[in-house]
Amino acid sequence: MRSALLVLLLGAVACAPSNVDALLSANADGDATPTATAQTPAPTRSGQEWGARGIGDPDFPLDGNGGYDVSRYRLKMGYDPATKHLTGNVSIEAKATQSLRRFNLDLKGFDVGKVSVAGKPATFTRSGDELSVTPAAPLAKGGPFTVTVTYEGVPQPVKDSSNLGTYGFIPTTDGAYVTCQPNGAKTWFPSNDHPADKARFDFELTVPEGLTALANGELTKKPVTSGGKTTFTWSERHPMVTYLATMTLGKFELREGRTAKGVPNLAAVDPKYRSTLANLHTVTGEITDHWSTVFGPYPFSSTGGVVDDFAAGYALENQTKPMYGGFKPDESIIAHELAHQWYGDSLSIKRWKDLWLNEGFATYAEWLWSEHRGRASAQSLFDTYYAKPAGNAMWAYPPGQAKPNDLFNESVYIRGAMTLHALRTAVGDTAFFTLLKEWAQDHKYGHVTTPEFVALAEKTSGKQLDQLFDAWLFNKGKPAL
Ligand SMILES: [Zn+2]
Repeated sequence: MRSALLVLLLGAVACAPSNVDALLSANADGDATPTATAQTPAPTRSGQEWGARGIGDPDFPLDGNGGYDVSRYRLKMGYDPATKHLTGNVSIEAKATQSLRRFNLDLKGFDVGKVSVAGKPATFTRSGDELSVTPAAPLAKGGPFTVTVTYEGVPQPVKDSSNLGTYGFIPTTDGAYVTCQPNGAKTWFPSNDHPADKARFDFELTVPEGLTALANGELTKKPVTSGGKTTFTWSERHPMVTYLATMTLGKFELREGRTAKGVPNLAAVDPKYRSTLANLHTVTGEITDHWSTVFGPYPFSSTGGVVDDFAAGYALENQTKPMYGGFKPDESIIAHELAHQWYGDSLSIKRWKDLWLNEGFATYAEWLWSEHRGRASAQSLFDTYYAKPAGNAMWAYPPGQAKPNDLFNESVYIRGAMTLHALRTAVGDTAFFTLLKEWAQDHKYGHVTTPEFVALAEKTSGKQLDQLFDAWLFNKGKPAL
């Protein structure tokens, strides 16, 4: 994720996290399930075999769910921009990680018609953004199961985050712009909506004829048109977190091809941004190939980018297809979103407090791209930010513990990138660039934490680095050089 104007921001305004609403409404309706609080993860009723209402991220207690692990989502969706009506038929393949008489999915709004588990009708209740499912028969620990949910209604994007404005499934004049970080997948499909649970995704998206529906991965067959509607079938075969899934749709002009190194490359722009299509396609190809020499092999089966006409003011690193909301992306932001394909998408954080592992890396990639192009060096960019006075808000916000109510603070980006530059200076270029590749390779398609990064940095460099990381990531105040 990057704001189109990030470098101009001098500290974002704090806001209530979006899940405060969910927490309040969950408490208000007299549901018998124990109440989650901001201090403790949502509890499991041991002995009653209920999956927890949250996956265990203490900063986002109701995001995700406990008791199971998803391996695959099959999303069959229909959407009509004229009525803003969405219909969904979602099958989720998962494995129970405990015995389960009941488990939750995350879903915001919609009328749920039918829920079944293992092909048999299941009962369900709604409470805030939680959909609680009771299968006809309990699920055994370790056993695979499939839950299917049919639902419909008008999607309600999340609007209460002053860090981000609006996110989730956002209707546009000709379709929808769908970017869901941090927890907006629930605005269009029932899911385990937290990055700690990755899965593969299949999409079958039906929209009025003449529109294009874009999703992650590749088209697995030619679009089929019948009765005035066209169905697009996409598949992302590599594990993906829910917030990176998209079904952005509308009028689009497309350019297909391959990068010089052979990676399939698809650029799509709203007709309003026609003049940027060729540049987006070319630059995306160049940067994808360049990062594969710096970070290691490109982790996915295709690359690309999408410019839609919704003025989000930010871009999101949707897996294989970064989304740029309402502006012509420059090289710097394309470099940022494509670096995320390694750091953020292939490697995912387990807890939101580690967000600097995504944003610090992607911001540092902007500096590396600038250096590669013979513009400002990473050192000179570091120096520019380091010159900010000791009273600047960035020095009061240690980026190694991103705050839930101010997740996308400038510090997580800029001071996160400065941490990497301070590390590069301390260990030297050889060890630093070896580390970048090893980090991406060791955790490919998996999860990462800050202590794991610190440990690998020490192993690769042979240096004790606690002091450096404490000063840059965890302590308040401007670190000494
Ligand atoms: Zn980013």
